[in-house]
Amino acid sequence: MIVATGLTKRYGSSVAVDGIDMVVEPGRVTGFLGPNGAGKSTTMRMALGLDRPSAGSITVDGRAYADLPAPLREVGALLDAGAVHKGRTARDHLTVLALSNGIPRRRVDEVLDLVGLTGVADRRAGGYSLGMSQRLGIAGALLGDPGTLLFDEPVNGLDPEGILWIRTLMRSLAAQGRTVLVSSHLMSEMALTADHLVVIGRGRILADTSVRAFLDEHAASWVRVRGPRPAELAAALGTAGLEVDALADGALAVRGAGAPDVGERAADAGLVLHELTTVQASLEEAFMQLTADSVQYSAAVPDRHLVPAGA
Ligand code: ADP
Repeated sequence: MIVATGLTKRYGSSVAVDGIDMVVEPGRVTGFLGPNGAGKSTTMRMALGLDRPSAGSITVDGRAYADLPAPLREVGALLDAGAVHKGRTARDHLTVLALSNGIPRRRVDEVLDLVGLTGVADRRAGGYSLGMSQRLGIAGALLGDPGTLLFDEPVNGLDPEGILWIRTLMRSLAAQGRTVLVSSHLMSEMALTADHLVVIGRGRILADTSVRAFLDEHAASWVRVRGPRPAELAAALGTAGLEVDALADGALAVRGAGAPDVGERAADAGLVLHELTTVQASLEEAFMQLTADSVQYSAAVPDRHLVPAGA
């Protein structure tokens, strides 16, 4: 379990992490989600003892990283897949790591197998593709068979097969009862990988919730309905207890009922419809709205657009 309490990191006058309180529970994948510059890497670096908090603390199983007797056996991390000596083979890289941490040499073969690098283990890491480097980084993280794993943007730049592999691996590590914290700036990726979400922006927690609850709250579908007599239609739907908002193009947005119900309420009132569509809110859009004020370098975001269900 990872516990952050009042965790703060300042660089000069700028605050990268601003009083974070969070508990990352074992047995599930926790997505650490935020736009670039939100403070995700800084938080992870502090969990790994690579940066010192300006205030507060972050512990793994109750201890600061520096106080862990055998860190690699307790915490594994993939922060930067490029952080490997280019002239070393994967096997040499992992063997050095294992020997310097009191981990038996045979574990190297096990993790190479686990990440699918056995066939290329004696090639120099400098010649590896990004996907192979990621796998090597993950092999290093798994070497000590740790109960806690941190992955910083692990799917960045990977092809679909690599993304699926990492997603499946994380879910299986969590299913084994490990604590798995994975950062991403992509909500869509987290919705597929994580069970729980901690959303941060400008170093502060914006949401700490289950993925299910986030989807229910932010990605609920609604009904777009349009007819030649919008005022009467709005009144009829309002009387039926539905929440109705007028849209700029004259259509109505209805929440609280599905399309069949909305159609039947209109029919009851004798009103003709020209359009009746279920609209699925985009998850990425919900995330962008939640973090809109905390994006460090934002481009102009187009007006909320409507995506029909199934599109
Ligand atoms: P994320 O991982 O969410 O993209 P980071 O933790 O890398 O965000 O960065 C958070 C903020 O801290 C950013 O504004 C970044 O510019 C700043 N920052 C990170 N590391 C340093 C550093 N070593 N010196 C100064 N500022 C830093």
